[in-house]
Amino acid sequence: KALPADSILENYRRQVERACFSFVTPKIPSHPSLIHVSPEMLHNLGLTKEDSETKAFLNIVTGAKVLPNTKPYAMCYAGHQFGNWAGQLGDGRAINLAEIEHDNKHWALQLKGAGETPYSRSADGLAVLRSSVREYLCSEAMYHLGVPTTRALSLALSGDQVLRDVMYNGNAAYEKGAIVARVAPSFLRFGSYEIFAARQDHKTLKTLVNFTIKNHFPHLGTPSKATYIAFFAEVAQRTLEMIVHWQRVGFVHGVMNTDNMSVLGLTIDFGPYGWLEGFDLGWTPNTTDREHRRYRYGNQPNIGLWNLYQLANALYPLIEATEPLEAILEQYKTDFDIESLKMMRSKLGLQIESPSDKLLLQDLEDLLQLTETDMTIFFRNLSRFKSEKPSEGFAVIEKAFYTLDDLSDSIIEQWNNWFQRYAKRLQDESFSDEERKAAMNAVNPKYVLRNYMAQLAIDDATKGDYGVIEELFNLLKKPYDEQPELEKWFAKRPEWARNKVGCSM
Ligand code: AMP
Ligand code: MG
Ligand code: MG
Repeated sequence: KALPADSILENYRRQVERACFSFVTPKIPSHPSLIHVSPEMLHNLGLTKEDSETKAFLNIVTGAKVLPNTKPYAMCYAGHQFGNWAGQLGDGRAINLAEIEHDNKHWALQLKGAGETPYSRSADGLAVLRSSVREYLCSEAMYHLGVPTTRALSLALSGDQVLRDVMYNGNAAYEKGAIVARVAPSFLRFGSYEIFAARQDHKTLKTLVNFTIKNHFPHLGTPSKATYIAFFAEVAQRTLEMIVHWQRVGFVHGVMNTDNMSVLGLTIDFGPYGWLEGFDLGWTPNTTDREHRRYRYGNQPNIGLWNLYQLANALYPLIEATEPLEAILEQYKTDFDIESLKMMRSKLGLQIESPSDKLLLQDLEDLLQLTETDMTIFFRNLSRFKSEKPSEGFAVIEKAFYTLDDLSDSIIEQWNNWFQRYAKRLQDESFSDEERKAAMNAVNPKYVLRNYMAQLAIDDATKGDYGVIEELFNLLKKPYDEQPELEKWFAKRPEWARNKVGCSM
């Protein structure tokens, strides 16, 4: 039941029953100031640069003022965290402001870090500058990489201090508070549905699923059991596509809990994410997951499936049949193998399909993990491989190795063998080397938001210097282009940054 927006009861922490959201008012920031605005996102919302320079804009994107005739709200959801049922979670530090319609598109505008909600549990509803810089830069970078994602409109300081336990020395310290205005057609997650199934509140479950279909999957038609099945099939398909993109660019989400799985198949919640430096199927950026490595790079496809099982369970009461749901989950497995092979072929510039490709790719993945080999540099430079000169293959990708000391003669020989096979395989293709290079450079990014790059932006921003944010933001708009003047960002992680990843809170 909706409480009036000015109710004094509105923000107290509680279990919220039979409701998909609660009205809340953002906390008024003491000295709000803008750090950066995404011109692309402004444009999508029908706003101009001049609009973004007004006091009114600043007020809205920092929660200082609420737009007239709107009622901001926080969403109620639950989730499975690290494989365990966690019960009600909800938007503990996100507040939906309004929906914006422009160019026939609907966008939900949400503030992250704008204060407490009924779902804040034991935390403060705030966000610090470091995590906000990471979310802001990464979500826009993902978009430009062609990965389905939630977006960011702006990054701002609240002017307030936020108390946090700093991971590295274990001491609590004050940090600058920040607010990201983020944007997506919808922020609904798997956990948004799970909560009502768990509470056996099938009425609200049905209301929410019908709402979702009507607003976000209208092509599926009027709600019925068949529509619900088609809805689940489409969510599975979109989830699969998103994760194949993650694997392609070397993105590791880090917290694939079901409350962080968008029902629209968008990358959501940029917490302890990271980018692969050395290609390593076992790598995770999440320091709290270092033991089980549940959310490691190579396990993301399986976790996508595990999460879809939870969504299937949540939708079951509306469908009351297991076979169609199981068939969709089975399909995900077969489709993932097919799509993943297709994606890996594209990374090698292979246009046609050959039965030998699976083994060629498997052996490549094994080789890449023998010694620390930078994923981005390897695939980008591989496009310069000349099919007539396999013996020069090693030299083409040599820059990708973190150290040449680990490269025994036997490893070098294995690489040379692999290049011979790759060259032979390329003879089946009709593309010229130049055409193959162009195709590969369109799927293998040159510039990604390496963990140390985000850290440099954060270090400067903490001191009030936003030059690196601006430079990286512009660099990552064209991740597939050569940008000779910014070539310094096409480099391996420096040694000081080894094992240093940003954290999410
Ligand atoms: P996450 O791991 O980021 O997906 O967050 C899990 C849950 O914790 C979500 O319900 C978040 O809203 C909540 N949460 C995370 N950080 C905070 C915070 N600083 N204040 C309130 N809730 C938070
Ligand atoms: Mg989350
Ligand atoms: Mg988070």
